[in-house]
Amino acid sequence: MGRGINWGDIEKSLRGWVEIMKEETEAEGNLGDMEEKIRGIMREIGREVLEYTVQEREKIEIDQIRCERCGGEIKRNGKVRRKIKTMLGEIEIERPRVRCKSCGWDFFPSGQGARDREGEGDKP
Ligand SMILES: [Zn+2]
Repeated sequence: MGRGINWGDIEKSLRGWVEIMKEETEAEGNLGDMEEKIRGIMREIGREVLEYTVQEREKIEIDQIRCERCGGEIKRNGKVRRKIKTMLGEIEIERPRVRCKSCGWDFFPSGQGARDREGEGDKP
């Protein structure tokens, strides 16, 4: 398994949103109301796609990762749920954490994007 994004899942989710949009636009209301509703839906769709794509980037292949400090073998060390504020609203993802078998260094091997946004280091 690579790091490719599963667009099939995103498509499924979008189809659900299309149904919601149909119902919303059939409901009573003036142009302004419809604008508001559709803007809200579009934003939520964007937030969902962003959350999904960021989460996909957190997938790791454990045997291809080496310790950032000593180059030693690493093992999985749980996951940390993390909320990230974005222009589209808050997203929540799980970041896999790993630990070096040799030196014990704990780090997040992926999620560069999320890490950059928060300007945080490798320690939780
Ligand atoms: Zn190490």
